[in-house]
Amino acid sequence: MSIVADHVKAVRPSETKAMTARAAALKEQGREIITLSQGEPDFDTPENIREAGIQAIASGKTRYTAVAGITPLREAIRDKLKRDNGLDYSVDQITVGCGAKQVVFNGLFASLNPGDEVVIPGPCWVSYPDMVRLAGGTPVMVECSENLAFRLSAEALESAITPRTKWLMLNSPLNPTGTLYSAEDLASLAGVLRKHPHVWILADDIYEKLIYPPARFATMAQVAPDLYVRTLTVNGVSKANCMTGWRVGYGAGPAELIKAMNTIQGQTSSHTSSISQYAAIEAISGDQSYVTEFVAEFQARRDIVVNRLNEAPGLRCRTPEGAFYVYPNCAGVIGKRTRSGQIIATDTDFAMYLLDNAGVAVVPGSGFMASPYIRISYASAREELQRACDRIVKACAELS
Ligand code: PLP
Repeated sequence: MSIVADHVKAVRPSETKAMTARAAALKEQGREIITLSQGEPDFDTPENIREAGIQAIASGKTRYTAVAGITPLREAIRDKLKRDNGLDYSVDQITVGCGAKQVVFNGLFASLNPGDEVVIPGPCWVSYPDMVRLAGGTPVMVECSENLAFRLSAEALESAITPRTKWLMLNSPLNPTGTLYSAEDLASLAGVLRKHPHVWILADDIYEKLIYPPARFATMAQVAPDLYVRTLTVNGVSKANCMTGWRVGYGAGPAELIKAMNTIQGQTSSHTSSISQYAAIEAISGDQSYVTEFVAEFQARRDIVVNRLNEAPGLRCRTPEGAFYVYPNCAGVIGKRTRSGQIIATDTDFAMYLLDNAGVAVVPGSGFMASPYIRISYASAREELQRACDRIVKACAELS
Protein backbone atom coordinates (compact mmCIF):
# COMPACT_ATOMS: atom_id res chain seq x y z
CA MET A 1 0.00 0.00 0.00
CA SER A 2 1.29 3.44 -0.93
CA ILE A 3 2.27 5.90 1.79
CA VAL A 4 0.92 8.74 -0.39
CA ALA A 5 -2.57 10.02 0.42
CA ASP A 6 -5.32 9.88 -2.21
CA HIS A 7 -5.75 13.67 -2.32
CA VAL A 8 -2.08 14.05 -3.24
CA LYS A 9 -2.34 11.41 -5.96
CA ALA A 10 -5.09 13.53 -7.54
CA VAL A 11 -2.50 16.22 -8.32
CA ARG A 12 -1.35 16.10 -11.95
CA PRO A 13 2.35 15.78 -12.71
CA SER A 14 3.63 19.25 -13.65
CA GLU A 15 4.23 19.82 -17.39
CA THR A 16 6.65 22.61 -16.53
CA LYS A 17 8.72 20.29 -14.36
CA ALA A 18 8.84 17.56 -17.04
CA MET A 19 10.10 20.07 -19.58
CA THR A 20 12.60 21.57 -17.13
CA ALA A 21 13.96 18.09 -16.32
CA ARG A 22 14.36 17.26 -20.02
CA ALA A 23 16.08 20.61 -20.66
CA ALA A 24 18.45 19.96 -17.73
CA ALA A 25 19.29 16.50 -19.09
CA LEU A 26 20.10 17.95 -22.53
CA LYS A 27 22.26 20.67 -20.94
CA GLU A 28 24.17 17.99 -19.06
CA GLN A 29 24.88 16.36 -22.41
CA GLY A 30 26.47 19.63 -23.50
CA ARG A 31 23.57 20.99 -25.61
CA GLU A 32 23.01 24.76 -25.58
CA ILE A 33 19.38 25.21 -24.51
CA ILE A 34 17.55 28.54 -24.44
CA THR A 35 15.03 28.41 -21.63
CA LEU A 36 11.82 30.31 -22.26
CA SER A 37 9.72 28.39 -19.77
CA GLN A 38 10.47 30.46 -16.67
CA GLY A 39 7.76 32.28 -14.73
CA GLU A 40 9.95 35.00 -13.27
CA PRO A 41 11.62 38.24 -14.36
CA ASP A 42 15.27 37.94 -15.31
CA PHE A 43 16.14 41.23 -13.53
CA ASP A 44 17.81 41.26 -10.11
CA THR A 45 15.91 42.46 -7.06
CA PRO A 46 16.37 46.29 -7.05
CA GLU A 47 19.14 47.66 -4.86
CA ASN A 48 16.92 49.54 -2.37
CA ILE A 49 15.01 46.33 -1.59
CA ARG A 50 18.14 44.23 -1.20
CA GLU A 51 19.52 46.90 1.12
CA ALA A 52 16.34 46.78 3.23
CA GLY A 53 16.80 42.99 3.56
CA ILE A 54 20.43 43.43 4.63
CA GLN A 55 19.38 46.06 7.17
CA ALA A 56 16.76 43.69 8.57
CA ILE A 57 19.43 41.05 9.19
CA ALA A 58 21.92 43.56 10.62
CA SER A 59 19.37 44.93 13.05
CA GLY A 60 18.29 41.51 14.28
CA LYS A 61 14.85 41.37 12.63
CA THR A 62 15.29 37.63 12.48
CA ARG A 63 12.71 36.24 14.87
CA TYR A 64 9.19 34.87 14.59
CA THR A 65 6.66 37.46 13.53
CA ALA A 66 2.88 37.67 13.76
CA VAL A 67 1.22 34.97 11.64
CA ALA A 68 -0.55 37.55 9.43
CA GLY A 69 2.70 39.46 8.88
CA ILE A 70 4.37 42.38 10.65
CA THR A 71 2.10 45.38 11.21
CA PRO A 72 4.25 47.91 9.26
CA LEU A 73 4.10 45.65 6.21
CA ARG A 74 0.34 45.24 6.47
CA GLU A 75 0.06 49.01 6.85
CA ALA A 76 2.15 49.46 3.71
CA ILE A 77 -0.13 47.02 1.88
CA ARG A 78 -3.21 48.81 3.18
CA ASP A 79 -1.84 52.10 1.84
CA LYS A 80 -0.92 50.52 -1.51
CA LEU A 81 -4.41 49.08 -1.98
CA LYS A 82 -5.88 52.52 -1.30
CA ARG A 83 -3.36 54.40 -3.45
CA ASP A 84 -3.29 52.11 -6.49
CA ASN A 85 -6.70 50.45 -6.40
CA GLY A 86 -8.94 52.79 -4.42
CA LEU A 87 -9.71 49.93 -2.00
CA ASP A 88 -10.25 50.40 1.74
CA TYR A 89 -8.97 47.57 3.90
CA SER A 90 -8.07 47.63 7.58
CA VAL A 91 -4.89 45.92 8.74
CA ASP A 92 -6.83 42.94 10.14
CA GLN A 93 -8.30 42.39 6.68
CA ILE A 94 -4.81 41.75 5.29
CA THR A 95 -2.67 38.62 5.50
CA VAL A 96 0.87 38.08 4.25
CA GLY A 97 2.06 34.64 3.11
CA CYS A 98 4.92 32.84 1.36
CA GLY A 99 4.15 34.28 -2.05
CA ALA A 100 0.80 34.86 -3.70
CA LYS A 101 0.79 31.10 -4.15
CA GLN A 102 0.41 30.34 -0.48
CA VAL A 103 -2.20 33.08 -0.09
CA VAL A 104 -4.33 31.59 -2.89
CA PHE A 105 -3.98 28.14 -1.36
CA ASN A 106 -4.86 29.38 2.13
CA GLY A 107 -7.93 31.14 0.72
CA LEU A 108 -9.15 27.96 -0.93
CA PHE A 109 -8.25 25.68 1.97
CA ALA A 110 -9.98 28.00 4.43
CA SER A 111 -13.24 28.00 2.52
CA LEU A 112 -13.82 24.83 0.51
CA ASN A 113 -15.94 21.96 1.77
CA PRO A 114 -15.86 18.62 -0.08
CA GLY A 115 -17.80 18.93 -3.33
CA ASP A 116 -17.64 22.72 -3.48
CA GLU A 117 -16.95 23.91 -7.00
CA VAL A 118 -14.46 26.51 -8.17
CA VAL A 119 -14.97 28.05 -11.60
CA ILE A 120 -11.63 28.42 -13.37
CA PRO A 121 -11.49 30.14 -16.75
CA GLY A 122 -8.99 28.25 -18.95
CA PRO A 123 -6.28 28.72 -19.99
CA CYS A 124 -5.21 29.29 -16.40
CA TRP A 125 -2.16 29.26 -14.17
CA VAL A 126 -1.13 25.60 -13.73
CA SER A 127 -1.59 25.61 -9.97
CA TYR A 128 -5.27 26.57 -9.68
CA PRO A 129 -6.94 23.22 -10.48
CA ASP A 130 -4.54 21.25 -8.31
CA MET A 131 -4.82 23.67 -5.40
CA VAL A 132 -8.60 23.30 -5.57
CA ARG A 133 -8.28 19.51 -5.55
CA LEU A 134 -5.82 19.57 -2.64
CA ALA A 135 -8.26 21.74 -0.72
CA GLY A 136 -11.03 19.19 -1.27
CA GLY A 137 -12.95 21.13 -3.92
CA THR A 138 -13.84 20.40 -7.53
CA PRO A 139 -12.32 22.54 -10.29
CA VAL A 140 -14.84 23.47 -12.98
CA MET A 141 -12.89 24.48 -16.06
CA VAL A 142 -14.50 26.93 -18.47
CA GLU A 143 -12.91 27.10 -21.88
CA CYS A 144 -12.28 30.68 -23.00
CA SER A 145 -11.88 31.15 -26.70
CA GLU A 146 -8.88 32.75 -28.37
CA ASN A 147 -11.44 34.76 -30.40
CA LEU A 148 -12.32 36.53 -27.14
CA ALA A 149 -8.62 36.95 -26.34
CA PHE A 150 -9.08 34.11 -23.80
CA ARG A 151 -11.44 36.21 -21.64
CA LEU A 152 -14.29 34.66 -19.71
CA SER A 153 -17.58 35.90 -21.12
CA ALA A 154 -20.61 36.74 -18.99
CA GLU A 155 -22.58 33.96 -20.74
CA ALA A 156 -19.89 31.33 -20.09
CA LEU A 157 -19.73 32.37 -16.44
CA GLU A 158 -23.49 32.21 -16.08
CA SER A 159 -23.65 28.68 -17.43
CA ALA A 160 -20.77 27.44 -15.23
CA ILE A 161 -22.34 28.55 -11.93
CA THR A 162 -24.24 25.93 -9.93
CA PRO A 163 -25.57 25.94 -6.34
CA ARG A 164 -22.22 24.31 -5.35
CA THR A 165 -20.06 27.10 -6.79
CA LYS A 166 -17.95 28.72 -4.09
CA TRP A 167 -15.37 30.72 -6.03
CA LEU A 168 -14.60 32.26 -9.38
CA MET A 169 -10.85 32.49 -9.99
CA LEU A 170 -10.03 35.67 -11.91
CA ASN A 171 -6.43 36.31 -12.87
CA SER A 172 -5.57 39.49 -14.76
CA PRO A 173 -3.18 39.99 -16.49
CA LEU A 174 -3.48 36.29 -17.10
CA ASN A 175 -0.78 33.66 -16.90
CA PRO A 176 -0.29 32.12 -19.54
CA THR A 177 -1.81 34.41 -22.19
CA GLY A 178 -1.06 37.94 -20.94
CA THR A 179 -4.76 38.78 -21.35
CA LEU A 180 -6.01 41.78 -19.39
CA TYR A 181 -9.59 42.21 -18.18
CA SER A 182 -10.65 45.83 -18.63
CA ALA A 183 -12.96 47.57 -16.16
CA GLU A 184 -15.78 46.98 -18.67
CA ASP A 185 -15.00 43.24 -18.88
CA LEU A 186 -15.11 43.00 -15.09
CA ALA A 187 -18.32 45.02 -14.89
CA SER A 188 -19.98 42.60 -17.27
CA LEU A 189 -18.90 39.60 -15.11
CA ALA A 190 -20.05 41.49 -12.01
CA GLY A 191 -23.51 41.66 -13.55
CA VAL A 192 -23.66 37.85 -13.49
CA LEU A 193 -22.09 37.53 -10.03
CA ARG A 194 -24.71 39.86 -8.53
CA LYS A 195 -27.34 37.30 -9.44
CA HIS A 196 -25.45 34.60 -7.52
CA PRO A 197 -24.68 35.91 -4.02
CA HIS A 198 -23.15 32.58 -2.92
CA VAL A 199 -20.20 32.94 -5.34
CA TRP A 200 -16.97 34.53 -4.10
CA ILE A 201 -14.31 36.09 -6.30
CA LEU A 202 -10.60 35.42 -6.00
CA ALA A 203 -8.86 38.26 -7.86
CA ASP A 204 -5.26 37.22 -8.52
CA ASP A 205 -3.57 40.53 -9.37
CA ILE A 206 0.04 39.34 -9.18
CA TYR A 207 0.89 40.81 -12.63
CA GLU A 208 -0.86 44.13 -11.93
CA LYS A 209 2.17 46.32 -12.62
CA LEU A 210 3.25 44.53 -15.79
CA ILE A 211 0.82 46.13 -18.24
CA TYR A 212 1.53 47.77 -21.58
CA PRO A 213 0.10 51.20 -22.31
CA PRO A 214 -2.58 52.16 -23.20
CA ALA A 215 -4.08 49.19 -21.30
CA ARG A 216 -5.12 50.00 -17.74
CA PHE A 217 -5.39 47.73 -14.75
CA ALA A 218 -8.69 47.08 -12.99
CA THR A 219 -9.68 44.72 -10.19
CA MET A 220 -13.08 43.37 -9.24
CA ALA A 221 -13.54 44.89 -5.75
CA GLN A 222 -12.84 48.32 -7.22
CA VAL A 223 -15.01 47.96 -10.34
CA ALA A 224 -17.91 46.44 -8.39
CA PRO A 225 -17.77 47.83 -4.82
CA ASP A 226 -20.89 45.84 -3.89
CA LEU A 227 -18.86 42.63 -4.46
CA TYR A 228 -16.08 43.79 -2.10
CA VAL A 229 -17.66 41.76 0.72
CA ARG A 230 -17.12 38.52 -1.19
CA THR A 231 -13.82 39.22 -2.91
CA LEU A 232 -10.34 38.08 -1.91
CA THR A 233 -7.81 40.35 -3.60
CA VAL A 234 -4.41 38.67 -3.95
CA ASN A 235 -1.19 40.37 -4.94
CA GLY A 236 2.50 40.34 -4.06
CA VAL A 237 5.99 41.57 -4.80
CA SER A 238 7.30 38.57 -6.76
CA LYS A 239 6.84 39.73 -10.33
CA ALA A 240 6.98 43.55 -10.55
CA ASN A 241 9.60 43.90 -7.82
CA CYS A 242 11.66 40.91 -9.00
CA MET A 243 11.40 39.17 -5.64
CA THR A 244 10.30 35.65 -6.61
CA GLY A 245 12.74 34.02 -4.21
CA TRP A 246 11.85 36.22 -1.25
CA ARG A 247 8.38 34.65 -1.02
CA VAL A 248 6.07 37.51 -0.10
CA GLY A 249 2.47 37.67 -1.26
CA TYR A 250 -0.64 39.07 0.36
CA GLY A 251 -4.39 38.79 0.42
CA ALA A 252 -7.05 41.32 1.42
CA GLY A 253 -10.66 40.47 2.05
CA PRO A 254 -13.42 40.08 4.62
CA ALA A 255 -11.97 39.73 8.15
CA GLU A 256 -13.69 36.38 8.76
CA LEU A 257 -11.98 34.81 5.74
CA ILE A 258 -8.61 36.39 6.52
CA LYS A 259 -8.82 35.10 10.10
CA ALA A 260 -9.50 31.57 8.82
CA MET A 261 -6.56 31.85 6.40
CA ASN A 262 -4.34 32.93 9.29
CA THR A 263 -5.48 29.87 11.24
CA ILE A 264 -4.19 27.64 8.43
CA GLN A 265 -0.96 29.58 8.07
CA GLY A 266 -0.46 29.49 11.85
CA GLN A 267 -0.43 25.69 11.75
CA THR A 268 1.68 25.32 8.62
CA SER A 269 4.40 27.87 7.73
CA SER A 270 3.60 30.34 10.59
CA HIS A 271 4.63 33.24 8.35
CA THR A 272 7.05 34.12 5.60
CA SER A 273 10.62 35.11 6.44
CA SER A 274 10.92 38.13 8.73
CA ILE A 275 13.74 39.47 6.54
CA SER A 276 11.61 39.23 3.42
CA GLN A 277 8.79 41.05 5.16
CA TYR A 278 11.02 44.02 5.99
CA ALA A 279 12.35 44.08 2.43
CA ALA A 280 8.76 43.99 1.12
CA ILE A 281 7.94 47.20 3.01
CA GLU A 282 10.58 48.92 0.89
CA ALA A 283 9.27 47.23 -2.27
CA ILE A 284 5.74 48.46 -1.63
CA SER A 285 6.40 51.88 -0.10
CA GLY A 286 9.83 52.83 -1.45
CA ASP A 287 11.02 54.06 -4.83
CA GLN A 288 9.51 51.95 -7.63
CA SER A 289 10.66 53.98 -10.62
CA TYR A 290 12.43 50.85 -11.94
CA VAL A 291 9.03 49.28 -12.71
CA THR A 292 8.53 51.73 -15.59
CA GLU A 293 11.89 50.67 -17.05
CA PHE A 294 11.08 46.97 -16.66
CA VAL A 295 7.71 47.43 -18.35
CA ALA A 296 9.29 49.31 -21.29
CA GLU A 297 11.87 46.54 -21.68
CA PHE A 298 9.24 43.79 -21.48
CA GLN A 299 7.14 45.62 -24.06
CA ALA A 300 10.07 45.80 -26.50
CA ARG A 301 10.72 42.10 -25.98
CA ARG A 302 7.07 41.25 -26.42
CA ASP A 303 7.04 43.01 -29.78
CA ILE A 304 10.20 41.21 -30.94
CA VAL A 305 8.74 37.83 -30.01
CA VAL A 306 5.22 38.39 -31.36
CA ASN A 307 6.46 39.73 -34.70
CA ARG A 308 8.97 36.97 -35.25
CA LEU A 309 6.73 34.10 -34.13
CA ASN A 310 4.03 35.23 -36.53
CA GLU A 311 6.54 34.47 -39.30
CA ALA A 312 6.75 30.81 -38.21
CA PRO A 313 4.75 28.49 -40.48
CA GLY A 314 1.94 26.98 -38.38
CA LEU A 315 2.07 29.48 -35.49
CA ARG A 316 -0.30 32.36 -34.77
CA CYS A 317 0.51 34.70 -31.90
CA ARG A 318 -1.74 37.43 -30.47
CA THR A 319 -0.25 40.50 -28.82
CA PRO A 320 -0.84 40.33 -25.07
CA GLU A 321 -1.67 43.37 -22.94
CA GLY A 322 0.31 42.34 -19.86
CA ALA A 323 2.58 39.91 -17.96
CA PHE A 324 5.66 38.49 -19.75
CA TYR A 325 4.21 35.59 -21.67
CA VAL A 326 2.95 34.96 -25.17
CA TYR A 327 0.67 32.05 -25.94
CA PRO A 328 0.94 31.22 -29.63
CA ASN A 329 -1.62 28.93 -31.21
CA CYS A 330 0.19 25.94 -32.75
CA ALA A 331 -2.77 24.21 -34.45
CA GLY A 332 -0.95 24.74 -37.76
CA VAL A 333 1.87 22.35 -36.82
CA ILE A 334 -0.34 19.61 -35.39
CA GLY A 335 -0.44 16.61 -37.73
CA LYS A 336 2.82 17.60 -39.40
CA ARG A 337 5.85 15.32 -39.62
CA THR A 338 9.37 15.94 -38.34
CA ARG A 339 12.39 15.22 -40.51
CA SER A 340 12.88 11.96 -38.60
CA GLY A 341 9.31 10.95 -39.50
CA GLN A 342 7.55 11.57 -36.17
CA ILE A 343 4.07 13.06 -36.22
CA ILE A 344 3.44 16.11 -34.02
CA ALA A 345 0.13 15.02 -32.50
CA THR A 346 -0.14 17.36 -29.50
CA ASP A 347 1.28 20.60 -28.16
CA THR A 348 3.38 18.50 -25.77
CA ASP A 349 4.92 16.75 -28.81
CA PHE A 350 5.57 20.17 -30.34
CA ALA A 351 7.22 21.50 -27.17
CA MET A 352 9.39 18.36 -27.01
CA TYR A 353 10.27 18.81 -30.70
CA LEU A 354 11.34 22.42 -30.07
CA LEU A 355 13.44 21.31 -27.14
CA ASP A 356 15.11 18.39 -28.91
CA ASN A 357 15.55 19.97 -32.34
CA ALA A 358 15.74 23.70 -31.77
CA GLY A 359 17.20 23.69 -28.26
CA VAL A 360 14.41 25.96 -26.97
CA ALA A 361 12.44 25.10 -23.81
CA VAL A 362 8.81 26.27 -23.76
CA VAL A 363 5.74 24.95 -21.90
CA PRO A 364 2.96 23.11 -23.74
CA GLY A 365 -0.55 24.55 -23.47
CA SER A 366 -1.87 21.30 -21.97
CA GLY A 367 -0.23 22.40 -18.71
CA PHE A 368 -2.48 25.46 -18.68
CA MET A 369 -5.62 23.50 -19.58
CA ALA A 370 -5.83 24.83 -23.15
CA SER A 371 -4.47 23.19 -26.32
CA PRO A 372 -2.94 23.37 -28.87
CA TYR A 373 -0.74 26.23 -27.68
CA ILE A 374 2.69 26.80 -26.22
CA ARG A 375 3.63 29.33 -23.57
CA ILE A 376 6.75 31.35 -24.14
CA SER A 377 8.16 33.55 -21.40
CA TYR A 378 9.98 36.60 -22.72
CA ALA A 379 11.74 37.30 -19.43
CA SER A 380 15.10 36.90 -21.20
CA ALA A 381 17.55 39.26 -22.92
CA ARG A 382 16.47 40.55 -26.34
CA GLU A 383 19.37 38.93 -28.16
CA GLU A 384 18.55 35.56 -26.63
CA LEU A 385 14.88 35.93 -27.55
CA GLN A 386 15.85 36.80 -31.10
CA ARG A 387 17.99 33.68 -31.35
CA ALA A 388 15.30 31.49 -29.81
CA CYS A 389 12.64 32.81 -32.19
CA ASP A 390 14.91 32.28 -35.20
CA ARG A 391 15.36 28.68 -34.11
CA ILE A 392 11.60 28.21 -33.62
CA VAL A 393 10.84 29.66 -37.06
CA LYS A 394 13.41 27.33 -38.62
CA ALA A 395 12.11 24.29 -36.71
CA CYS A 396 8.55 25.04 -37.86
CA ALA A 397 9.68 25.46 -41.45
CA GLU A 398 11.35 22.03 -41.32
CA LEU A 399 8.05 20.26 -40.53
CA SER A 400 6.17 18.81 -43.47
N1 PLP B 1 -0.58 33.71 -9.52
C1 PLP B 1 -0.20 33.57 -10.80
C2 PLP B 1 -1.19 33.76 -11.87
C3 PLP B 1 1.13 33.25 -11.12
O1 PLP B 1 1.50 33.11 -12.39
C4 PLP B 1 2.04 33.05 -10.07
C5 PLP B 1 3.45 32.66 -10.33
O2 PLP B 1 3.81 32.21 -11.39
C6 PLP B 1 1.60 33.22 -8.75
C7 PLP B 1 0.28 33.54 -8.51
C8 PLP B 1 2.50 32.98 -7.59
O3 PLP B 1 3.29 34.07 -7.26
P1 PLP B 1 4.28 34.01 -6.02
O4 PLP B 1 5.64 33.76 -6.58
O5 PLP B 1 4.14 35.35 -5.36
O6 PLP B 1 3.84 32.90 -5.13
